[in-house]
Amino acid sequence: MPTLFHNARFWSAGEEIFDGLLVDDGVITATGKQAFESSNKECVDLQGAFVMPAFLDGHAHPIFGGREAAGPRINGLNTVDEILAQVKSFAENNPDQSWIIGGAYEAAIIEGGDFDAHWLDSVVSDRPVVLHAVDHHTIWVNSLALKLAGVTSQTAEPTGASIARRHDGTPKGTLREPNAMALILDCAPPESIESDVAAIKRACSAYVKVGVTAAIDSWVEKDMALAYLAAARSGDLTIAMNLSFLASPEGWRGKVDEFKSLREEFAALPDPDLVKANSIKFLADGALSAGTAAMLEPYLDNPTSYGIKIWEDDELLDALAAFDMLKFQVHIHAIGDAAVRQALDAIEAMILINPHWDRRPVIVHAQLISQEDLPRFKRLGVIANMQPLWCYLDPMNRALILPRIGSMRNDLQYRLRTMLNSGVKIAFGSDWPVTSEIPLRAVAVPVNRANPEQRDGLGWNMPEAISLDESLTFYTKNIAYQMFREQERGSLSVGMKADFLVLDHDPFEVDASAIALIAINALFQNGVKTTN
Ligand SMILES: [Zn+2]
Repeated sequence: MPTLFHNARFWSAGEEIFDGLLVDDGVITATGKQAFESSNKECVDLQGAFVMPAFLDGHAHPIFGGREAAGPRINGLNTVDEILAQVKSFAENNPDQSWIIGGAYEAAIIEGGDFDAHWLDSVVSDRPVVLHAVDHHTIWVNSLALKLAGVTSQTAEPTGASIARRHDGTPKGTLREPNAMALILDCAPPESIESDVAAIKRACSAYVKVGVTAAIDSWVEKDMALAYLAAARSGDLTIAMNLSFLASPEGWRGKVDEFKSLREEFAALPDPDLVKANSIKFLADGALSAGTAAMLEPYLDNPTSYGIKIWEDDELLDALAAFDMLKFQVHIHAIGDAAVRQALDAIEAMILINPHWDRRPVIVHAQLISQEDLPRFKRLGVIANMQPLWCYLDPMNRALILPRIGSMRNDLQYRLRTMLNSGVKIAFGSDWPVTSEIPLRAVAVPVNRANPEQRDGLGWNMPEAISLDESLTFYTKNIAYQMFREQERGSLSVGMKADFLVLDHDPFEVDASAIALIAINALFQNGVKTTN
C-alpha cells in the first residue's frame, strides 16, 4: 500500500517548499497536493519536520576511510605527543598486527610538515609504522619502514614525488606523492578482499549514519573492485556506489581491458544500479599543502618549483581519449591552476577527437582556476567537484599553503560565486577520509566561509560565499547529475527513489554556525526507515 508522508516542510533543489510525499514500493509516486489525493494509503505524520533528499558524495575514498577506521585513531589530534600516545596504545593493543597503518594526522601541526621517523621510533620500533597525513598525498613512517623498503640516502627522488631528507641526505621519515609513498606501501602486506569488504561495510554504516545514500569511490584498483563485487553480492554494500578506476601514466594502457571487464561484472549484478563502474580517475597534480600542486607561477618558498605535473600533456590526452571512446566518464584531480589548465586542454582536445556523447567530465578540487580558464568549464560541460569543508582559511591553509603561494593567490582559491557567475556546474564531495564525511558539518562552510562552528561572522573572502540553498543543491541534485543518477536520486520528485532525511531543525531557520549541530532524526532509504 502507498504511504503518504505529510505534515513536513519538504525541500528539494529548485522547488518551493511543499508538503506531501506519496511513496509506493520505494519510489515517489506523487508530491504536494497530488500526494494527498489517493484514497488508499497509510499516513506518516512527520510533525512539522524539515525533510530533504538524502545526501550523496561526489568525491570520496570510502574504502580508505573504512581501512583507516581499523588503525590508530589520530584524526583531529593537535600535537605530535598525542599522536604518538595513540600509536603506542594501538600497538600495545594489537600485538599481532605486523604493520601499523593509520591516519590521518594534521600535517600543519609541524612547521613545514616534515615529520621525523625517530619520533615514531620512540613508541614503536619493532614493527613498521605508516601514518597518512590528512591530504593523503603524504605519509610519515618510522625507521623500520624505511629500512624494510630500502629507502636510504642513495634512493633517487621518484618521479613526481619527493622524500624529505636530513642534511646528510638520509630520509627523514616523510614521503610525498604516490610514487614515493609506494616505495613503502608496496612492502606492506596487501589488503585481503575480506578485509576490504569489512572496510566497505564500515564505510557504508558511517555514511548511513550521516545521511549519505550514494557515493563515488574515486580511487579504485582491481582488488578494491573485487571487494566491491563481493560486498554487493553479500549484501554488505548498503549504499549505492559509483566507482572510478585509477589510471596512471605508467600503467593505464595495460588496464583498459581490465576496467572494461570489471565494468561488465558490475553491470551483471542482480541490481545493476547498486554499483556503476563507469568512471576513470586521473591525478594531474599533487596538493598545495605539499608544494606539489602544478602552478602557472612558481612557489614562493621554492622559486624554482612550479609543483608537479604527473602526466605529460600528450599522454594525458591519449588516456582521456581512449577511455572516453569507451564511454567512461573522466574524473581528473587538478588543484593548481596549471593542472586545471592541463585538464581543460586535454578535455577540449578529447571532445574534438571523439564522437559526441553525454560525457559529463569532472575536474575535482579545481582549487585555483586562472581567470581565462573559467569560461571553459561551461563551454566544455565540465563539472567542478569542490569540497565544501575546505572553503575557509583552515589551519592547513594558514600554515602550509599561505606561506607557499602568498595571500593573493591564496585568496583566489574556492571562488564558488565567481565560478557560478561563469556558469560552472558545481557538485560537492567530502574527499573522506581526507576530511569529514559528514555533509551537515560541511554545508554551511561555503555559506559562511568560516569553520563550521564559527559564530563571529568573519568569513574568508566573503564575496565568494554561496547561499545555503545552493550549497544543499550541490550536495544533492548536482552530485546525482555527476553520477548519472539524476533520474533516481538527489531530489524529491515523481519517479525518484524515496531516499530522504528528516532533520531535527530547519537549516534555513537556524544560524549558519548551528547547522553543523543539526541532528538527523531519521533516514529513509527506498521509503523504509533505516536509522534514527
Ligand atoms: Zn580525493
